Amino acid sequence: MRPPARTRSRAYGFREIDATALLGLPGGVDVHTHLDADVGGLRSVDDFESGTAAAACGGVTTICDYAWQQRGQSLTVAIEGWKTRAAGRAHVDYGFHVIVGDASDQTLAEIPRLVDLGYPSLKVFMINEFGIGDQGIMRVLDAARKVGVVVNVHAENGDMLDHCARGMRAAGRLDPRYYAESRPALAEAEATRRAIDYAALVGAEVYIVHLSCADALEAVSAARRRGIRVWAETRPIYLALTEERYAVGGTEAAKFIGAPPLRSGLDQAALWDGLRSGDIQAIGSDNTSWTVEQKSAGARDFTRVPYGVPGLETEMRVIYSEGVAKGRISLQTFVAAFSTNPARIFGLYPRKGTIAVGSDADFVLFDPTRDSVVDERQLHSRAGYDPFHGFHLAGGPVMTVSRGEIVARDGQLVSRAGRGVHLERHRTFDRD
Ligand SMILES: [Zn+2]
Repeated sequence: MRPPARTRSRAYGFREIDATALLGLPGGVDVHTHLDADVGGLRSVDDFESGTAAAACGGVTTICDYAWQQRGQSLTVAIEGWKTRAAGRAHVDYGFHVIVGDASDQTLAEIPRLVDLGYPSLKVFMINEFGIGDQGIMRVLDAARKVGVVVNVHAENGDMLDHCARGMRAAGRLDPRYYAESRPALAEAEATRRAIDYAALVGAEVYIVHLSCADALEAVSAARRRGIRVWAETRPIYLALTEERYAVGGTEAAKFIGAPPLRSGLDQAALWDGLRSGDIQAIGSDNTSWTVEQKSAGARDFTRVPYGVPGLETEMRVIYSEGVAKGRISLQTFVAAFSTNPARIFGLYPRKGTIAVGSDADFVLFDPTRDSVVDERQLHSRAGYDPFHGFHLAGGPVMTVSRGEIVARDGQLVSRAGRGVHLERHRTFDRD
């Protein structure tokens, strides 16, 4: 084992770090997190303090979280609420997208102001629980297009999902072992195609969040060949785990429940293809943390399991190990998908997503020879478990630097809550 990186403070306020044999990589930019979020009457257990502690220790130096607009609420009020949740707590820098919960005329009229304030991205859901209807989606896309806002889409066909869940309830197949069956790839592929068609109809730009299956990827690839402005993001759990994790049933299976579900090995292979081809540009964790106890509420009924898994602390080493170390993607593709591309798409580049003069000095010293086993007891998430627990991984971050300050070293947090700053984002685009 090589000795840990040494640092030596010198006069004049700079510090020399011995990074011999280490990779210097831009810090991770995870544009898909849900910290301190209320979902279905529950509050996710990682707030901006523990969530960004996990991020710092895992090599993620920027996050974009989702503020959520309630019905009748203005978008800016929703953002203010989330800014309050984050203020004084974060260890790394953070920005916000806004989830549109109410596609009213007032909401649409507010979108240009949002851009001026530094929030050039919105999100819409196509599932019925959080949906705003297809006309609402088209209206949001149209308003977004006019001011260069990218619309993030959770693409699953809500009616198909509801139909499947109803049938499974009637058949008594509600144990988490059957979860994947309740959200078929077909429902994701259909909604992905439809979202892309709506975007094409009005000339909008869409970003498909957490793409998980081959058929949805095919829709994205086909659209990109036609010149439609669509981006796609996938998650570490889809790249490294499959639906076999549900086979045990009960709480153990519930720990892996998120939306979309884990998919087949064939889907997983397609996602790596997508990263290689460039049709998938970004990787985001969709970090939403629940304790095992919260997850176990649905041990016999998957419809009662809160969606989501923690992911901020392990994603960098999981993607590196499963991707780069196993020869599936190049180091360049890894950096692009984990840092540079999401920074570019969401208006953070070149401040974030690169190591360059004038950028923010967010970087990770990464040891490609450091082998480790994921131990959920050593992680900073309050979930208390990790979907990759027990994974043998090749390579890991040794040191995380955020705006020139060391915030984590060898998996230990050496930062202080509140040093992370709120980020306004500005995208460049051609106004038509
Ligand atoms: Zn999400």
